[in-house]
Amino acid sequence: MAKTLLQGGIVLTMDEKIGDFKKADVLIEGDKILDVKPNIEADGAEVVDATDMIVLPGFVDSHRHAWESVIRNVGADWSLQKYLGSIYYGNIGSRRRPEDDYIGNLLGALEAMESGVTTMLDWSMIISRDHTEQMIKGLQDSGMRAVFAHGCPGDGDYWNGESVVENEADVRATAEKHFSSKDQLLTMGLAIRGPEFSSWETSEAEIRLARDLDAVCSMHLGFGTWGGAARSIEKLNKAGLLGPDLNFAHANAVSAEEMRMLAEKGGSISVTPEIEMMMGHGYPATGLAMENGVKPALGVDVVTSTGGDMFAQMKFTLQAERSRVNEKQLAQGEMPGPPLHISARQILEMATIEGAKALRLDHKTGSLTPGKQADIQMIRTTDFNMFPVNDPIGAVVQCAHTGNVDTVYVAGKAVKQGGELINVDRTRIRRLADEARNSIFEQYGNPDELWLL
Ligand SMILES: [Zn+2]
Repeated sequence: MAKTLLQGGIVLTMDEKIGDFKKADVLIEGDKILDVKPNIEADGAEVVDATDMIVLPGFVDSHRHAWESVIRNVGADWSLQKYLGSIYYGNIGSRRRPEDDYIGNLLGALEAMESGVTTMLDWSMIISRDHTEQMIKGLQDSGMRAVFAHGCPGDGDYWNGESVVENEADVRATAEKHFSSKDQLLTMGLAIRGPEFSSWETSEAEIRLARDLDAVCSMHLGFGTWGGAARSIEKLNKAGLLGPDLNFAHANAVSAEEMRMLAEKGGSISVTPEIEMMMGHGYPATGLAMENGVKPALGVDVVTSTGGDMFAQMKFTLQAERSRVNEKQLAQGEMPGPPLHISARQILEMATIEGAKALRLDHKTGSLTPGKQADIQMIRTTDFNMFPVNDPIGAVVQCAHTGNVDTVYVAGKAVKQGGELINVDRTRIRRLADEARNSIFEQYGNPDELWLL
């Protein structure tokens, strides 16, 4: 099997047992990481010079609605309520043709990979079986590792607190057709409405369906004005349903007791700090989670309103959490720190290994561990915003951006090299994305006198 040696880089493995290296090599064989240490001898391996690179795991985005890439930045000034009202309930989201979902997901995945994301959970909004097929094809054609979280239509019938409408037949058919094997880049999840956007019986049935399919089960939960009073995690716990396969996006307003239930029974939190702060979900739950024994994962969520890279999410997460604690100290007449609350390393863990755990893929990805899949990114240190490197963790979390991501491997295959995505026809993708955007807004109308360029 072909071997590739990434030679002489600063290596951040994000594996506690292996640690970090000022200078080391990473040996890839086929789709796997074979070894990580200084001075690896590998006769016959293709050698990639990593001397001016920080080598680390690809990011894991645990929560994104990928199709929305074709309507990106329509909602820079949208609140959550405006977003939900504009996208769901028969509005923009329901005007998609199947081919729009193909390019939406392909573009969303390419955007993510360009910025160093190698694994993403696509929280989908399904209109029909044809749409499902095209969404899956878009992810497949991108070459990314992804959890396709099968959702339901955005219609009002589906999205109200009493909804009992189910789509079990579609879910099972999709599982059978595409996900009979776990030994592939694309694995299956369920994107369910959960107890705050459907009836309790529906939630319970959908959680059981996900378990029957051995699929990670993700839901939006515990935010907004209703998220605190709902006490959904407590209800799930009482019903014996909490478990490590449940993933909760946002969870801004859940109680400390509920976080401790998660710590005890399992279940992950996906913090999407940028859109939570801008759209009104609530303050990011990072500190609440960590103080009660839960390490969150991170996500971009919606590129209708923000950019699509994890660098921004890491910075927002760190700054929001520091600011929360600093403000408390300042209010008591004390200067914050030292040391400052929460570390850049913890944030990088959230963007890598904690994301992999949340998606139940940590046996495959999230750290540079021999035996795991070779999902790797290399960040250039020759760029003006990166050198001299004095603290590589700080450099990645606080300084780097998508333009510094030189090389990305997914399962040992290079998808970005020399700062450019490989084998991507940019002209074709742009044309298809424009056509999708035009088709959607020709049907829906122009919501806010957008320029639609
Ligand atoms: Zn979401």
